[in-house]
Amino acid sequence: MGTFLLFFTSTVAVRDAHAKELDPYQERMKLYKKVETITQIPWYYLAAIDQYERSIRLVRRDLPKPESTIAIYFRPEQWAGLTNPNPSAENPAVLQFFNGMGVDGDGDGKASLKSDEDVLYAIAHYLLSYGVDAENLQIGLWNYYHRDKTVRIITGKAKVYRHFGRLDLDKQVFPVPIRSNHSYRSTWGDARGWGGRRIHEGTDIFAGYGVPVRATNYGVIEMKGWNKFGGWRIGIRDINNTYHYFAHLSGFAKDLKVGQIVEPGMVIGGVGSSGYGPPGTSGKFPPHLHYGMYKDNGITEWSFDPYPHLAKWKRFERANTGKKK
Ligand SMILES: [Zn+2]
Repeated sequence: MGTFLLFFTSTVAVRDAHAKELDPYQERMKLYKKVETITQIPWYYLAAIDQYERSIRLVRRDLPKPESTIAIYFRPEQWAGLTNPNPSAENPAVLQFFNGMGVDGDGDGKASLKSDEDVLYAIAHYLLSYGVDAENLQIGLWNYYHRDKTVRIITGKAKVYRHFGRLDLDKQVFPVPIRSNHSYRSTWGDARGWGGRRIHEGTDIFAGYGVPVRATNYGVIEMKGWNKFGGWRIGIRDINNTYHYFAHLSGFAKDLKVGQIVEPGMVIGGVGSSGYGPPGTSGKFPPHLHYGMYKDNGITEWSFDPYPHLAKWKRFERANTGKKK
């Protein structure tokens, strides 16, 4: 027993040291590209699925937290096959017999849930039965997740990864230029200042009319248009399944459209006072940006307080541009 424990802990220590040396994005990309070569499924789709699952596992209590390079999660019985009497079986032929999803991707003769390559190859192998073009991949994704929104989120992420050609897309900025004249405070959960019966789901940033409003993250424009309460507004989905909502705009940046890829700092519109009336209504309250954040966990979506994030982004941006002062 003692020997076993010693062996176990030292193995973990070695794995940890190894993980720290390597850039996790490089490690992931290497695996995506490898599986792309074998299956012809574009790496950015594999990256999008992996990132989607990583994001939901971080906020879901019914799923284990991601611990490996690849975060795609299979339940043991899904991997081994529902009718397999041994849910921890790793013999690829046995798994295939029981219609399990597990496959041997790394060629060690075992289909193991502990192997990142086996796990990534398993989802690719599943999608491969539908086809490798965008349309068939969507059908495959729908049949796997049975949720339109999930397919939309994954497809959006794939577009973002493809566009930038890399995985490191974590940069975030404050939604108005930090040198602009503006003020904001924590108001999440307060009664709404302007109409509506629900609680205030966001932070109001007061600034002059027309002050540029910027995308805060890498992502894709999911929604753009008029709403009775929010006025002219834009919704952007980032690569962590978070939806960023910008409301009461004075207008939109030129040529901005739904499905477009954005990056942090990109101007998407201006601070305004639109809303609370038919399209075009404005001026019923002082100009401000209403900024909301919503998290999707694969089942539902809920709002959370953007204030601490806004404060962090501003601090970070100021620290990185402060030298000019
Ligand atoms: Zn507001």
